[in-house]
Amino acid sequence: MELLKERIRKDGKIKSGDVLKVDSFLNHQMDTDLFVEIGKEFKRRFADAEVNKILTIEASGIGIACLVAQSFHVPVVFAKKTQTKNIAGDVYTTKVQSYTHGRIYDIIVAKEFLGKGDKVLLIDDFLANGKALEGLIALVEESGAELVGAGIVIEKGFQVGGDALRKRGVRLESLAIIESMDEETGRIVFRDDEEGSGTV
Ligand code: 5GP
Repeated sequence: MELLKERIRKDGKIKSGDVLKVDSFLNHQMDTDLFVEIGKEFKRRFADAEVNKILTIEASGIGIACLVAQSFHVPVVFAKKTQTKNIAGDVYTTKVQSYTHGRIYDIIVAKEFLGKGDKVLLIDDFLANGKALEGLIALVEESGAELVGAGIVIEKGFQVGGDALRKRGVRLESLAIIESMDEETGRIVFRDDEEGSGTV
């Protein structure tokens, strides 16, 4: 998605630990006009899929997921991160390791909002090692819902998550795939074929 790549080139800041900061339009201040375009692009890429629910993870996925959900005219559910020791009862739960903090935390979704008959599209801002998406997939599987695919705004293609998920057969669409980024020079190289498999 050219508009997004241009914005990353213009405003992205490369930090240590292979972290790309995009706080001026995605992760802190949010450019909702850009989010609308992102929503339309995911709708185009998953036009053939009968998505009836968007699932994301708090916090940074929520803003984008809302505008994606709006373009599909379906509800969005976000998995909550929780510190609670004893999680039981009316929630699906799994553990996720945070890329940016390294911590392991529980995520939960109430059973009333996900289940058999749902066709779920996962949405997140970044894909690095794939732990966040793996956690969301585990919740979808536990619920008996159908996983349609995953839409990622920025995939860091030099990290393992994207390849692992594609090998697993997950239909993954990333709007910008970064092949390499250099903290010293600020240079970002994108992969050309970010359309993924099965799309025009
Ligand atoms: P993963 O679980 O795939 O290793 O990492 C994905 C999650 O970590 C995303 O939900 C995102 O919040 C965060 N993340 C991973 N890499 C980056 C990055 O380079 N920049 C930012 N801003 N967040 C990242």
